[in-house]
Amino acid sequence: MNVIDGKQLAATVRQEVAQGVAALVAEGAESPGLATVLVGSDPASEVYVRNKRRLSLEAGMRDLHHWLPEDVTQSEAIALIDELAEDQRVSGILIQLPLPPHLDAASLIDRIPTGKDVDGLTVRSAGQLAQRDRGLRPCTPAGVIRILEHVGVEIEGAHAVVVGRSILVGGPMAQLLLERNATVTVCHSRSRDLPRLCREADILIAAAGVPTLLDRSFVKDGAVVVDVGIHRTEHGLVGDVDFSDVSEVASAITPVPGGVGPMTIAMLLVNTLQAAELAHRTSRAG
Ligand code: NAD
Repeated sequence: MNVIDGKQLAATVRQEVAQGVAALVAEGAESPGLATVLVGSDPASEVYVRNKRRLSLEAGMRDLHHWLPEDVTQSEAIALIDELAEDQRVSGILIQLPLPPHLDAASLIDRIPTGKDVDGLTVRSAGQLAQRDRGLRPCTPAGVIRILEHVGVEIEGAHAVVVGRSILVGGPMAQLLLERNATVTVCHSRSRDLPRLCREADILIAAAGVPTLLDRSFVKDGAVVVDVGIHRTEHGLVGDVDFSDVSEVASAITPVPGGVGPMTIAMLLVNTLQAAELAHRTSRAG
């Protein structure tokens, strides 16, 4: 059984991004700029944003961070996003979620131009994915695909079962697998007989947000299991998969922590580089 080292793979991906940044700058472009937007002072969000900023700097990008107070108004937040949308130095805009409840997150996200939507969460980016058009893909599911490619599992023709159908993870995950010609089953909180559906999977993606929901009774012998869930418990971080139990039957499995988590930021950097490359090519063509 192979425990997939997402930390190591993420480091490799970030190194590739750093090389891509250097190559872009050598062509005469400015280094890509990542504009992270943090509202308020939620401790978990602060940690996520700090890591995104640090790793973007390490990859040779510019850190164009903006902080807004907890009580910022919708129109003030809109003004900032519109300014970043216009700013040539900004290659990518990331609004750290969740936002305080008085803000309309969906309408703020939708002001991000498609070319700068490095989280892949605008309606237009979702449309591009639905239409199998080119575009920036949501980072967490894109990271899972990268993990599967790294493991060498053949996605084409495989039966992939995704547990979860959220806009952020499960939904785009299923579409990315379909784009790669897997046969995809999407399960959710109202699916009947989840263990039976999961046991069909050659590739099982757990993104339900329920701690240790899946034990070995959900897993076919030899399946590849990717655990997107992250939960802080008194025993430390755990995922949606009962790791020690499922390790006994899976052919490969991602741990929590150290699996999907580190890949999410790495894919954000991949998207930011891709956005900067496209902007540079477009400006040269114009
Ligand atoms: P969500 O709550 O928005 O969606 C959960 C989905 O799972 C829903 O579609 C729901 O129908 C389904 N579900 C819930 N309970 C279920 C059950 N008992 N059986 C079957 N399906 C069930 O959550 P999300 O934003 O998609 O995140 C899912 C998990 O992934 C969370 O633990 C979250 O913390 C984690 N996450 C990790 C990363 C990362 O970088 N590793 C990024 C985003 C989210």
